[in-house]
Parts: sequence; C-alpha cells; structure tokens
Amino acid sequence: MSWCGIEGHDDVVNRFRTSLQRGRLASTFLFVGKSGIGKKKFAQRFAQALLCSHTANEELAPCLQCDSCLQIEAGSHPDVETVSKPVDKSTIPIELFIGDLKNRNKDGLCYRLALRPSIGDRRIAIIDDADFMNQEGANCLLKTLEEPPPRSILILIATSEQTQLPTIRSRCQTVRFQPLSLEFVTQHLREINPELSEADAAERAWLGEGSLDQALEFLDPELEGFRCELWESLGSAAQTDYLKITKDISTFVDGAGKEAPKRRQRLRHTIRLFMLFYRQLMLASFESSTKAKGLLGEQAQAAQRAGQGEATPMQIDRCLQALREVDANANLATLIECWIDDVAAAQLGTASLRR
Ligand SMILES: [Zn+2]
Repeated sequence: MSWCGIEGHDDVVNRFRTSLQRGRLASTFLFVGKSGIGKKKFAQRFAQALLCSHTANEELAPCLQCDSCLQIEAGSHPDVETVSKPVDKSTIPIELFIGDLKNRNKDGLCYRLALRPSIGDRRIAIIDDADFMNQEGANCLLKTLEEPPPRSILILIATSEQTQLPTIRSRCQTVRFQPLSLEFVTQHLREINPELSEADAAERAWLGEGSLDQALEFLDPELEGFRCELWESLGSAAQTDYLKITKDISTFVDGAGKEAPKRRQRLRHTIRLFMLFYRQLMLASFESSTKAKGLLGEQAQAAQRAGQGEATPMQIDRCLQALREVDANANLATLIECWIDDVAAAQLGTASLRR
C-alpha cells in the first residue's frame, strides 16, 4: 500500500492517524531511520495533511492540489520551514535556528515557529540532517522543545536516536521508519531503469540495504566495478593485502574529482561495502546459515575458511567510527589510512591470538 506516493511506512501513517483522531498529536517529533527511505518526503506529506484546505487533519489525506499543498510541495508555504545542513558545512549553523549575531532571537527557525501562522492554522518546522546538529545547535532548540508554541509542530529527521543528544531525545516523540523492502526497491529500480534485469535490480536492492538512494547509487558502473574488486581482495583466501586495498580506495576516491562532497560520498560507499562484507562473514560463520549466499556468499565463505571471521565485530565498530569521521569532514587521506590500519590490525590481532 502506498500513502500519497510514499511506500513502506503505513504503520507510521496509522499511528499518526490514531493520534489525530484522539486529539493527541504531540508537538515535537524525532523521525529516525536509514537515509534514503523517504523520511523527509513523509515529513512534507505530513505537513501537507495538517495544512490542507480540502481535507480534515484526522483523515491524514492531503489533497495535494489545493494552494496549501502545492506551496508546501514547492517549498514556498510561509508557515512551513525546512532547515538542512549546508553542503559546505559539517554542522547546521546555529544562525539557522536563532538568527545571526545582529538578529539573535529575532530571526531563524525557533523565532518563526513561535509567530502567529500567516495563512494556515499552525506552523511546522522540519530539521533535516539533524545528525549534524552540534551541542550549541541542540541547546538553541531546548526552549522550543520544552515549551512548543501552541499548535506548532517540530520534526527532527535523523538516522538514529544515538546521533541525538539525550536532551533532544527526551523531549521528542520518536517515530521509527523501517528500511524499505527488497521487493519494493527492486521493483522501483526497474521502473526507473527498464533495461535493468530482475536479477541485477535485486542485487542492487540488496546492496542498498533497504535504502532506495543507496541502491540507486549502485547503478553507477564505476562503483560496481570497484565493489567487485574490493570484495575479491577482502575475500581472498590468502592473506589480505591491505596495502593494495588502501591504494585502491584512494584511487577510487580520487576518481570522484576535486569536489569534497563527491569524494566523501565515494568513501561512504566504500565503508558500507566493508560493513556488508563483514556482516556476511558473520553470517557465514553459522555453517548452516543459508543467508550468506548470493552476491557475497562465495567470498564470505572463503574468508571464513581463511579464518577471518573472528575480528568482524571490532571491524564493524571501526567502520561505523570511520563513517562518523567522514561526516565530520575529517581529512580523507588520513582517515583512509588509519581506518584500514585498524581493520587490518583487528584481523592480525585475532589471528595471532589463535596461534
Ligand atoms: Zn490540499
């Protein structure tokens, strides 16, 4: 079932509908879930449902045709504001919340959310990329979260609760969004790209891990070529050649050109490929497991036979840390070197313990 063109989140729709029918809608929400599964789109549809001039709130069924719905779609509704992390910044600047030094507390999202609505009957603010709020930014929001302006709605969008400070978490109602189903992502990939075979689409969907955006990126032939090579190196039965792997990663990242966001994105993909590999390795350690088959099955089984499996929890942790470092704009060359050093050391460490 699809809700206003959004697939896979009917449980969230039902939950909101019930709250609205009981007249118990909260004011502040924390939307959490993988990136690329439609959380932002959902927040926009939710805003449309609450401000639609043709349908009642409780129906949670925006018409998508009235002026209000159209303005929200176009990002021009005066009562709906969305704040995101600027591409060239590593955090959301606090000016976006409380105004610059000259206009402190007389501008920004918190100030506007407290104003009387211009045309609708409530104001709605969406903070996309809430993973990138620093302590100072979170502090700016506290008063708004503590005493939300009447009928206002504030939605924070994040990848997990853990990326939020306890002060934020405790003041928001958490709404969890599940990854999209493999079937849906496969089908959607084929709709976008009819030449893609069912098997290839299913493979990309698996690589996307429930995220449509991530699956779409794997349509890039360069990334696909790199993936094959990387998994072959990682799954080789002989000793893993981490020097070669480090070099291959640097070449792949450099291939994105000079723009930092593109280079960082390539490194994110690389780190996720490592994590997928390690997870399959863990599955392969359960001999009877049938899940470690498919795309990575053979390499994972080979690596398992070569005794690589024991370090995987440590290696996955180190990959998660590397992902956070990419997001924090760390120097990429240093990051790659330290990260690969650490995953290699984890593997060598467990190997030497076995001896
Ligand atoms: Zn409408």
